[in-house]
Amino acid sequence: MHCLNVELGERSYPIIIGSQLLGDAQHLLPYIRGKQVCVVTNETVAPLYLSRVLEALSEFDKVDTIELPDGEAFKTLDTVNRIFDLLLERRHNRSTTLIALGGGVVGDMTGFAAACYQRGVDFVQIPTTLLAQVDSSVGGKTGVNHPLGKNMIGAFYQPRVVIADMDTLATLPEREFSAGIAEVIKYGLICDEPFFCWLEDNISRLMARDPQALAYAVDRSCRDKAAVVAEDERESGRRAILNFGHTFGHAIEAVQGYGNWLHGEAVAAGMVMAAELSHLRGSIEAGLVERVRALLEAARLPTAAPQGMTTEAFLDAMAVDKKVMDGRLRLVLLRALGDAQIIDDTPRELIEQALQTCGA
Ligand code: NAD
Ligand code: MG
Repeated sequence: MHCLNVELGERSYPIIIGSQLLGDAQHLLPYIRGKQVCVVTNETVAPLYLSRVLEALSEFDKVDTIELPDGEAFKTLDTVNRIFDLLLERRHNRSTTLIALGGGVVGDMTGFAAACYQRGVDFVQIPTTLLAQVDSSVGGKTGVNHPLGKNMIGAFYQPRVVIADMDTLATLPEREFSAGIAEVIKYGLICDEPFFCWLEDNISRLMARDPQALAYAVDRSCRDKAAVVAEDERESGRRAILNFGHTFGHAIEAVQGYGNWLHGEAVAAGMVMAAELSHLRGSIEAGLVERVRALLEAARLPTAAPQGMTTEAFLDAMAVDKKVMDGRLRLVLLRALGDAQIIDDTPRELIEQALQTCGA
């Protein structure tokens, strides 16, 4: 078992990583202060893992559960309102604890509900996707989508504890698993050269979902993200390096239609584009771009633009018109392996060239 602390002053909390943690009360109970608990999960995860979590909660007077519909389309205020309805109907008071059992969608909504219910109640994260374990459960961003924008309504709100059980990853669909690996590789690239090299050596163990390799990769990813977040909790500067590959990736998601490419898949292709651009700017060697490509391919992730998506389509989606270029497009690029920086003076021609190299 690995345990690390996210250092955020009085909002600090531990992340516990290992196997067979779900049904184990000893990791959960110390972080629940009141007598009431509500487990929030979804219709896919509940049949797989809910009963084990309920076992660990057997000593509580009041344990309610709510199963939300599955999918990003349900990450809305309406769905969060269903959580509020249940909490009020079942008379949960200010000392209740919400437990998020599921992927990032469940985690983001549960955290947001906890931030708002009676002006803030405790919450615990039990992330069950790789992406949730290495990314969305760390750092305290919570929220929902609005018809006019993704994640536009939300709050910074930290959990009391995160419990990441590697066993839950055994049932994750292959594409979802690879999408999580994309964010893992991102940490190596932006701030952890030794981890990137470890990933190169261990990618086949990871893809075989070896629990020990997974626990190491989750631990290391959480440490890397936690360190960046601890420096800049509310993203006024350095936290933006976590968006490496994401500007290109968001363009892919927007043009392909959200859901066709998974976020992690779009980020994978986006990271190759950002690496190519870093090379064109003269910061990194061509050989490093090749290593990035090879590692992502070994993780069964895309490394080029979607079929038929032109540089124009990218630049439009990235809002790279003249005005934005004059007013600067901020991109996260590599200065070296394990060293990202935010650059806002990249010439449009270089961006086009990088995109073309990646098949746009
Ligand atoms: P998700 O929550 O939709 O989960 C992906 C799919 O896997 C879903 O169908 C889910 O029901 C299913 N699933 C979950 N656990 C499973 C398991 N153990 N076995 C089988 N199936 C399982 O998606 P995600 O990738 O976990 O998270 C994406 C969300 O996270 C997005 O809404 C994104 O905005 C958010 N996010 C938030 C942050 C943050 O900092 N808060 C960071 C990154 C992403
Ligand atoms: Mg991401």
